[in-house]
Amino acid sequence: MSELYGELGDISEPEFCESWTARTFCMARSAFEMVVRSAEEETGEAAAGDEFCYIDYLRDPDLGPVGVVRIKSAEVSTPDWVDVLGAVAEGVQEFMMSHHRMVWPICGDHGLGLHVGYFHEAAVWKCTGGTAEGHVVRAIDPAVHL
Ligand SMILES: [Zn+2]
Repeated sequence: MSELYGELGDISEPEFCESWTARTFCMARSAFEMVVRSAEEETGEAAAGDEFCYIDYLRDPDLGPVGVVRIKSAEVSTPDWVDVLGAVAEGVQEFMMSHHRMVWPICGDHGLGLHVGYFHEAAVWKCTGGTAEGHVVRAIDPAVHL
């Protein structure tokens, strides 16, 4: 964060924080739409809507936005797309569990619930079944082919 702050130079710290948070939030919104779409296609259940908006800025009562976006209980403080996508996927997964009592997504081979992992600089769904290390099922971003 401080590196980028240095590059931007002239803007004040609150302004910087605001724009950093806005950028992370904007990225989280795109990731959210992407993950919600696959959750809804795969489960037939609603994963988002007005009544359950669970993506939010984290605001300090005195300082305002502090560079952190929250998705369910996951917090994202980096505008790195892969990290944001992983955190959002965990948030949606948590929502499916708490709201629909549904394990999503599931490995087609082992019938186990998948976990967010990182592979070749991509956020992926991993299964713990099969070999000891488990296996990567697919990239979370449908546009990424592993
Ligand atoms: Zn599996």
